[in-house]
Amino acid sequence: MKPALSTIIADIVAQMGEATDRGKVADYIPELAKVDPARFAIAIATADGDLLTGGDADTGFSIQSVSKVFALTLALGKVGDQLWDRVGREPSGNAFNSIVQLEREQGIPRNPFINAGAIVVSDVNLGGHQPRVAIGEMLRFMRYLSGDDSIAINEDVAASETATGFRNMALANYMRAFGNVRHPVDLVLGTYFHQCAIEMNCRQLALAGRYLMLDGRHPDGGRVVSPSRARRINALMLTCGHYDASGDFAFRVGIPGKSGVGGGILAIVPGRASIAVWSPGLNDSGNSCLGTQALELLARRTGWSVFSPPEEGD
Ligand code: GLU
Repeated sequence: MKPALSTIIADIVAQMGEATDRGKVADYIPELAKVDPARFAIAIATADGDLLTGGDADTGFSIQSVSKVFALTLALGKVGDQLWDRVGREPSGNAFNSIVQLEREQGIPRNPFINAGAIVVSDVNLGGHQPRVAIGEMLRFMRYLSGDDSIAINEDVAASETATGFRNMALANYMRAFGNVRHPVDLVLGTYFHQCAIEMNCRQLALAGRYLMLDGRHPDGGRVVSPSRARRINALMLTCGHYDASGDFAFRVGIPGKSGVGGGILAIVPGRASIAVWSPGLNDSGNSCLGTQALELLARRTGWSVFSPPEEGD
């Protein structure tokens, strides 16, 4: 008999508690360097409507690039498939903040989950408004998806990145030179930095991802995106969600996932589970060290890799 999910979660939390190599907390955004590397959390929202948690699942963290999944969802809602004229859908094979590829590819970022792609997505979401309108829309979206009105932006993190985000400024200016950023760069980056500075805990993040497990539906019955769009977002998470370690994540875990430098990962098992893990120490590719290990263990113990054959009774 398969062990209960709660047992698997307890085992994972215990095992992560003993880990000696916890990775290195991101320090290029000074505010993120203050986070305690000893933290670990996991939350799993299941298709049956359960929510199981372990570790520091009520502690908020900076979702950073995990926000790119939700910003992409909003941008596709605004401009539909026209977005793909401005952003590609291929893994980058480069670091998340690389500028080299952009020069070769005429200012069209490889995918919406590297920084350059997410900056174009922010340009779309800005849509001629002031950043506070676009940021307000994003916050309302996150609150609706997770059913939690307490979700907010950590202004210290946003300010910290605004003061030090020179590489993102370079990327945005570079794309503006190609006409692929259309609003003033400071407004686009204001939107982008604030979106990355949204603070959520694992419980809230797992709940927010449910529409991607439910083929585009909110558990309240509302449609967030069409089934085909949900599947495509999941496909992009699998192929591009972990920067240039996306192939390795697919190999080890086999579940669509999006990581952020705050140490969070959102992982989606279509039809089964929306999972959030968090541990702030990063591995060499900039993905949560223990978060990745925890998802690998979880996939192995549950058989949730999307490449596993369906079980009898599924
Ligand atoms: N705000 C971060 C940056 O642009 C996000 C990076 C990440 O989480 O991958 O550098």
